[in-house]
Amino acid sequence: MNIGILGAGQLAQMLALAGYPLGLRCTFLAPEEAPCAAPLGRHHRGDYQNSAALAAFADSVDVATAEFEHIAQVALEGLEDRGLLAPCSEAILLSQERLQEKSLFTRLGLPTARYAPIDTEADFNSALDVAGTPAILKTRRMGYDGKGQASVAAVADLLPAWESLGRVPCILEARVPFERELSVIAVRSRDGECRVWPLSENQHEAGILRVSRSLSNDPMEGLAQGYCERLLEALNYVGVLALELFQCGDELLVNEYAPRVHNSGHWTIEGAVTSQFENHLRAIAGLPLGATAAVAPSVMVNVIGQWPSARDILAVPGAHLHDYGKSPAPGRKLGHITLVDHDAEALRQGTAELCRLVGVAGEG
Ligand code: AMP
Repeated sequence: MNIGILGAGQLAQMLALAGYPLGLRCTFLAPEEAPCAAPLGRHHRGDYQNSAALAAFADSVDVATAEFEHIAQVALEGLEDRGLLAPCSEAILLSQERLQEKSLFTRLGLPTARYAPIDTEADFNSALDVAGTPAILKTRRMGYDGKGQASVAAVADLLPAWESLGRVPCILEARVPFERELSVIAVRSRDGECRVWPLSENQHEAGILRVSRSLSNDPMEGLAQGYCERLLEALNYVGVLALELFQCGDELLVNEYAPRVHNSGHWTIEGAVTSQFENHLRAIAGLPLGATAAVAPSVMVNVIGQWPSARDILAVPGAHLHDYGKSPAPGRKLGHITLVDHDAEALRQGTAELCRLVGVAGEG
């Protein structure tokens, strides 16, 4: 079976790697000349909005999916009309626009931080009434890795924050004093079966994920899984979805979802019976889902911007190195490293060493 993927970055690369032993082959549509997934499949070089490129891509695949959500509606609906797209265009389109995404959470009874839309300066007072301060102003579109956000510590910060974001449509969101950032990753098959991986606890710096830890039997697991399943059902979703959460006391607030495999689930490659990548492919290909149980506690550390020496990384006992083959650039995700260990002290020491090597504070 030939799997079409919109995008050819590291997520597409890891999907292709997971599909190979299953006999699944990947075709990528991406505008870049030499994206990092290209060596692992067929690369159609073309723009996502170019109808000829899309038609050639669609002609050559049995099913199509996306490794990122910011894809034009016309491209998604074209693939959907041909019966190829999974997950559905609605799930991808809703995630592109924060106000629609938040409204969906509200409709489904999933708690979020207080939020209000801002389209013009006339909305400032009503938005401040709802969100209060401190708050975060977020662009409704094209927000990822902390981009398209500005801090609003006090009322007077709102106008400069909105101007710094280009006066585009935004939402103002209460800044949540969370204790932990968590994510829950789940997969839903074509016949509606859901499976959920153990929770991930995530540590960000400057809006970019740096470290994810798998959690075993976390007290918030049942609540998070329930929220995620409610969302999957509502969207009649097929494939893997990640839901990002803030924990405040006993409460979980839903931040956003990603309609795709997710960085906080990379630990599942070595740390779970079936990885998020394999199960995404199984789901969209109409194959039975694999077990999502953890094989042991895992930690994943991202390599951002520049590489430490591979020799030093591989000297850490049990380190699994994933080099995406991208050229270094500030803030760019170049790879990740996973440790999987039943021995909590060994995991702690290995994580501390990896965090030191890649330059994150870590937890030690
Ligand atoms: P986002 O692009 O919405 O995922 O935000 C990126 C990061 O900013 C999150 O992972 C949090 O660390 C932080 N953040 C976003 N929204 C909030 C919020 N309402 N309160 C506190 N921190 C937030």
